[in-house]
Amino acid sequence: MISQGMYIPHRGAHAVVIGGSIAGLLAARVLADYFEAVTIFEKDHLVDGTEPRAGVPQGRHVHSIWRRGLTLMEESFPGLTAELVEGGSTEVEMTTDFAWYHRGVWKLRIPSGIVITCQTRPFLEWHIRKRVCQIPNVRLVDRCYAKSFVTDATADRLTGVVVQSRRAGATEETVSADLVIDASGRGSRTPRWLEDLGYGRPEMSIIDVDVGYATRFYARPPLEDHRWKALIIAPTPPNGTRVGVVFPVEGQRWIVMLGGWNGDHPPRDDDGLLEFARSLEAPDIYRFMREAEPLTPIVGYRFRANVRRHYERMRRFPGGLIVLGDSLCSFNPIYGQGMTTSALDALTLRECLDWSVRKGECADAMSDRFRRRVPRRIEAPWRMAAGEDMNWPGTHGAAPFGTSFMNWYFGRVHRLAARDPHVLVRFVRVANMIDSPVRIFHPRVLAPVFTRSPR
Ligand SMILES: Cc1cc2nc3c(=O)[nH]c(=O)nc-3n(C[C@H](O)[C@H](O)[C@H](O)COP(=O)(O)OP(=O)(O)OC[C@H]3O[C@@H](n4cnc5c(N)ncnc54)[C@H](O)[C@@H]3O)c2cc1C
Repeated sequence: MISQGMYIPHRGAHAVVIGGSIAGLLAARVLADYFEAVTIFEKDHLVDGTEPRAGVPQGRHVHSIWRRGLTLMEESFPGLTAELVEGGSTEVEMTTDFAWYHRGVWKLRIPSGIVITCQTRPFLEWHIRKRVCQIPNVRLVDRCYAKSFVTDATADRLTGVVVQSRRAGATEETVSADLVIDASGRGSRTPRWLEDLGYGRPEMSIIDVDVGYATRFYARPPLEDHRWKALIIAPTPPNGTRVGVVFPVEGQRWIVMLGGWNGDHPPRDDDGLLEFARSLEAPDIYRFMREAEPLTPIVGYRFRANVRRHYERMRRFPGGLIVLGDSLCSFNPIYGQGMTTSALDALTLRECLDWSVRKGECADAMSDRFRRRVPRRIEAPWRMAAGEDMNWPGTHGAAPFGTSFMNWYFGRVHRLAARDPHVLVRFVRVANMIDSPVRIFHPRVLAPVFTRSPR
């Protein structure tokens, strides 16, 4: 192997992905078009089906996918949406099927043409995994975890990873790679491994928000006639800290999530949960829960902080390494941006690989380009999550530039979305990451924001 990494593509080129969850699977799909072989190492035991697994504890909780994320997944796996729907996902039109209470008002219910699918997280992951496993040059090795990076003699570039199978009697193994992708999630050990190699750790942005979730599944009788297919009741900050969500999922079930910001976490007992639902700013979820038949115990999740790792700021960084998905940036889950951002990271990877192939660049130049480009894609969702979280006084961290103005502006947009169809559709397109947030400053939105009464 030459010291700056191989040109892409070349015979025998091998890429390794650490982590076989959403970000890792989407990255593997891209890599398969450029590398002769792609190996995904996943520490969990993967079984066919839709049971939550230990390595993805958040899989027990509601996972909405924004339209942009779904579109990118569909482009990677044509027919995926149809398969999801056939398997039991529900198609939901964002502005007619959704009943969305936000900042003290119900958003208008007029068509926007933006349709997403609702399903559980394990169900979505399983469908993507099945498709990835059908790609002939991709191998998914489960029950096997990455232990450390391997470098060349000068430690300038990665040449592989050390992995350890969890199967009985297995010993650790060094696997060579031209490119290593870290998609191991929020608990990624890349900062530590880089420090061990003498690179130091990346700077981090941390917005401490202390969000708690409580989730339960309920029966969804087939003939049920609801005025909505999905329901969100969001709070009015700074005093309102409680949110509730009801989504239809496969298996004729509803998933219900109650959550709270700044330590205002929902209890996990029946009566406590119902009381929490009653305290939401609109009574609809409380009424729903009183009537619905619970199918599961209540499970909780605590999310401390939005975390962004700034690899782009490191002065030295090894060639042949890419960090993406939650390993790179993990957002307050209430805004539902993680999977769509993972899909955008995979898109950036494709763009960087395309560029390198056209320019005849080696893997190191490509990974360096990715490291410098991907922050631009993350910036918008980061500002949306970190900025919005700043509405609550118990949130700690460095607010992105312009947060106070943005929060004032979006506060007006949310209220106007209850009576101005144009504002509503613009907002929903931005929230779905179809349009850049810049589009929310279109004159048709700016004018009413500055001229109309917020009431
Ligand atoms: C409570 C909660 C709710 C959320 N809700 C939403 C939502 O509504 N919408 C949305 O888009 N996003 C949501 N997210 C975020 C979403 O789960 C992630 O953004 C998404 O799963 C992409 O993450 P990932 O693939 O990077 O990492 P993860 O999903 O965390 O997966 C990491 C994978 O790496 C494996 N792994 C870890 N270490 C190793 C190792 N050393 N070797 C091998 N394998 C390893 C793990 O087993 C796991 O499979 C939510 C998150 C939380 C916490």
